[in-house]
Amino acid sequence: MTSYDTIIIGAGPAGMMAAISSAFYGNKTLLLEKNRRLGKKLAGTGGGRCNVTNNGSLEDLLEGIPGNGRFLYSVFSQFDNHDIIRFFEENGVKLKVEDHGRVFPTTDRSQTIIKALEMKMLELGVDIRTDTEVVSVKKVEDLFRVRTADQEFATGKLIVTTGGKSYPSTGSTGFGHEIARHFKMEVTDLEAAESPILTDFPHKALQGISLDEVTLRYGKHVITHDLLFTHFGLSGPAALRLSSFVSGGEVAELDFLPQMSPEELAAYLAQQREKSIKNTLKALVPERVADFLASDFPEKVKHLNPSQTQALIDKLKKLPIPITGKMSLARSFVTKGGVDLREINPKTLESKKVPGLHFAGEVLDINAHTGGFNITYCLCTGWVAGMPHY
Ligand SMILES: Cc1cc2nc3c(=O)[nH]c(=O)nc-3n(C[C@H](O)[C@H](O)[C@H](O)COP(=O)(O)OP(=O)(O)OC[C@H]3O[C@@H](n4cnc5c(N)ncnc54)[C@H](O)[C@@H]3O)c2cc1C
Repeated sequence: MTSYDTIIIGAGPAGMMAAISSAFYGNKTLLLEKNRRLGKKLAGTGGGRCNVTNNGSLEDLLEGIPGNGRFLYSVFSQFDNHDIIRFFEENGVKLKVEDHGRVFPTTDRSQTIIKALEMKMLELGVDIRTDTEVVSVKKVEDLFRVRTADQEFATGKLIVTTGGKSYPSTGSTGFGHEIARHFKMEVTDLEAAESPILTDFPHKALQGISLDEVTLRYGKHVITHDLLFTHFGLSGPAALRLSSFVSGGEVAELDFLPQMSPEELAAYLAQQREKSIKNTLKALVPERVADFLASDFPEKVKHLNPSQTQALIDKLKKLPIPITGKMSLARSFVTKGGVDLREINPKTLESKKVPGLHFAGEVLDINAHTGGFNITYCLCTGWVAGMPHY
């Protein structure tokens, strides 16, 4: 049986960063991943471009991590989003900042990020085994015994970075929660978060359109961000963020032009009297949205009577969207719930009950908005779990 100082289960962002930090501090490190390739879920983030972090302030980060972000104060004081940016730049990856502080590689390719992590692990001598699924873990005296189909490894420090339970096709099937339960640790209820929303809406006409900076309103919740019309309803950051406040049966309102008041819109329409409604709207919204909105009205702006003008303004500013449900956990971007944080030392990410057992990334009861916030806390908890604490 081969022994290592540190064994890490799962090569997502948390696991790869844990391996780098462990090896950086001089530990003999083994990383086990059941997929053939590293970072399968990470590769799909940011539309395949890898939204590697967010360059906001600490306050922005905590706001972007609505699920137990405050647990991360100590983690972020040791390694934060600026350290992530420095790490990649020092390792030859050029980064750029897009809207809402989202950070991407300038290549717009996830593989740039995954390759950089892999090269760093190889440079530091991490033993990386892909296509290697861990099937059981037990502790015998002070050592963890980690079993795969045909091998057994031993370590004094085990880091579990197996992710949550969403998109199980990427490998995150909840094995880490089983390890926690095996060691009699609590796992909070697992639920879908950042879920695409199902709507009863004539979305055929709008399918595939993405909108920048529109507002979705439901009750007191007002979310201004990008939105995507899909074949089932709504996705994109605005819909994903709204998803935690709805379950189905609600009617949300969509404001296509949050930067213009109804009065400004009325004044604008009054200036365009001789033009067609379609052309007038095309100056404000994408062409297909303009066609959709104009379809119930006469051809020219000057032919609108006062109640039709009001109806058009309402359609632009508060289009009702009946919500029928949201995607299941398996088809949501993020898992809410996980290893109970009361069982975890926030400074070291070690189990309070089981010395040597650490958890990092989405396997923990932490959930964040897309936009780089999940990846940020996964990379940062990975680094902190991998480093020694004296
Ligand atoms: C489509 C999509 C888009 C997203 N976009 C964004 C975004 O833009 N911004 C953002 O912040 N977040 C985004 N997320 C969320 C983000 O990708 C995850 O939060 C993050 O990848 C979790 O990292 P992790 O390292 O904890 O786990 P994962 O990335 O899930 O990695 C866990 C790894 O553990 C391995 N594993 C599991 N069990 C075993 C086992 N028994 N043996 C060996 N290996 C095992 C898995 O194969 C997997 O590779 C997105 C998620 C999805 C699905």
